[in-house]
Amino acid sequence: MSNVLIIGAGGVGGVVVNKCAQQPDIFSHITLASRTVSKCEEIAAGVRERTGVEIAVEEVDADNVPELCALIKKIKPDLVINVALPYQDLPIMDACLETGVNYMDTANYEPPEEAKFEYSWQWAYQDRYQKAGLTALLGCGFDPGVTNIYCAYAQQELFDEIHYIDILDCNGGDHGHAFATNFNPEINIREITQKGKYWENGEWREIEPMSVCHEFDYPGVGVRNSYLLYHEEEESLVKNIRGLKRIRFWMTFGEEYITHLRVLQNVGMTSIEPVEFEGQQIIPLKFLKALLPDPASLSDGYTGKTSIGCLIEGIKDGQKKICFIYNNCDHAVCHEEVGAQAVSYTTGVPAMIGAKMLLTGQWKGAGVYNVEQFNPMPFMEELNVRGLPWQVVWLDEKPKEFI
Ligand code: NDP
Repeated sequence: MSNVLIIGAGGVGGVVVNKCAQQPDIFSHITLASRTVSKCEEIAAGVRERTGVEIAVEEVDADNVPELCALIKKIKPDLVINVALPYQDLPIMDACLETGVNYMDTANYEPPEEAKFEYSWQWAYQDRYQKAGLTALLGCGFDPGVTNIYCAYAQQELFDEIHYIDILDCNGGDHGHAFATNFNPEINIREITQKGKYWENGEWREIEPMSVCHEFDYPGVGVRNSYLLYHEEEESLVKNIRGLKRIRFWMTFGEEYITHLRVLQNVGMTSIEPVEFEGQQIIPLKFLKALLPDPASLSDGYTGKTSIGCLIEGIKDGQKKICFIYNNCDHAVCHEEVGAQAVSYTTGVPAMIGAKMLLTGQWKGAGVYNVEQFNPMPFMEELNVRGLPWQVVWLDEKPKEFI
């Protein structure tokens, strides 16, 4: 029996609420709070129709710590699940500390005025959370999240030493729009337009944005162009996977997407520098976000699958071994189950599982944790029964571009 407060009524928030409502024995009281309360009400109505469960709704500005504290004191949750935007991570962590409540999220903090994400800001809360006897669980979506858990599972169960990790993220789906992003457009475009980066032999190596691309044959989807990007799970996995020599992250983009992005960048629409327009200061990327489809609205009619996994090379019993651990998730199946597309689903389901790990005491500890620091086994078992089953395939050789 537990009481959770979920903050953020977007694509991911909708999935978290639906998946929690499916397990009333664990999540016995659920409140959804967000900036626009009508979006919370819409999600609550969908949950009522699908499961008969009643969700409480609240309005909150999650940039405002006193407002958050007042809400937390009113609801008295055991855990706050933050699925608003990365900008809100620190105010929500502050409010949880002040009110003595456990915290979790799916994306690391990023300052609004600079397109830069890293864990340093949130890891800086370690001593304060530890002293307060509270847990903060960071990055519990799919990537980061499940990809970290796959690596922890590989380290614990499959290899004696892991040397190389390539995280491969493919959305092989079709939403029918010329250009749309599958999660918050502002956060998504900030992420992929910054310089790429990977870690090798103890050093971070930077590359120009989207300048390295290889084909990879994704199970359940087929061959797709994959671009080398920087992604936040690399920062914690470098610390937590022993013996690592290199870690990289790849994401697929179609021709249509790349062409639109290039044009938008060339005309300045992806900039976060304010421009004056008719007497007002406008941030071009925020204006672009207002024009693009809401990620939650894409699910109706979305076809195809995601295929996300970790290509891992290491040593087991003195022998070189290579495996690919992955999940396929079908957009239409997610829509049928919870009215969401697969990118929201693959993020929201692990968030619910992470919450369950904390609430049932299967994961516990005072301080700030990345998911791979906990035992991966109960999480891996939950993935198989909550909609994100995984497979391990052993390979004789890696594709030559990934050696
Ligand atoms: P959406 O834009 O669909 O939803 C974000 C929600 O947060 C909206 O409901 C928005 O409110 C709300 N919000 C924004 N600012 C505030 C605020 N100040 N106070 C209260 N509520 C606020 O995004 P997604 O659902 O697609 O993504 C949610 C999170 O999940 C993001 O942090 C994203 O980075 C992360 N993510 C993680 C992934 C992973 O695998 N780890 C993958 C995909 C996403 P309003 O409706 O008023 O705009």
